[in-house]
Amino acid sequence: MINVSSKKGLEVQLSKLKGFLDPKMSLEQYITPSDIAAMAIWHAYMKGDMEKVSVDLGCGTGILGIGALMMGAKYVFFVDNDEKALDICKDNINKLKSEGLIRDNYKMINGDVSQFSEKVDVVLQNPPFGTKVRHADRLFLIHAFRLADVIYTFHKSETFPFVKAICEDNGFVINEKLDLKMPLKAQFQFHRRQIHRIDVGFYRIIKKI
Ligand code: SAH
Repeated sequence: MINVSSKKGLEVQLSKLKGFLDPKMSLEQYITPSDIAAMAIWHAYMKGDMEKVSVDLGCGTGILGIGALMMGAKYVFFVDNDEKALDICKDNINKLKSEGLIRDNYKMINGDVSQFSEKVDVVLQNPPFGTKVRHADRLFLIHAFRLADVIYTFHKSETFPFVKAICEDNGFVINEKLDLKMPLKAQFQFHRRQIHRIDVGFYRIIKKI
């Protein structure tokens, strides 16, 4: 079931979702902005990667996995270790369900990403960038390699050499990388500027054949 017919239409739907109510700094909880999420999901859709089974690792309030459901995903797992974020994710999904925009083909799992072990076709993730918990980004990526042959993921641009090396070490290869500026709204006290933009890479990573 696909209920949106353009990237802009997807962005409009995603922009209505609720974000974190009380973001936790230790978990690096930032919602992916709706324009960036729509770009990512639309890109994956055009690649033929959306009408499949995927997992949104560290789903937070669900914007990536919900985008996948709206673009015809067969099934989506939502995984996060923060119950409050999952409650908001549930609300977001229920609202779209009541509007007939998505169905019941998803499951939510409250736990650490390392506990999720279902084989899926595609991993979607905008993980913590590892600024609070060292190497959190690497842990997400290494776990993603175990789950799927296609991974869509965001990382800080400066970590490109590490991302490339980790892919090589695990039999994966960077198939595409788009450079973008991710606006992070000032939601934590240590942020002085209202909107802080960071350089981020959006990657499509695939298993080497
Ligand atoms: N993917 C969402 C949220 C990004 S913020 C979006 O794109 O909007 C990162 C998310 O990862 C947060 O929701 C945080 O709770 C979750 N997270 C951080 N470490 C985690 C871990 N070890 N296991 C599961 N989820 C984790």
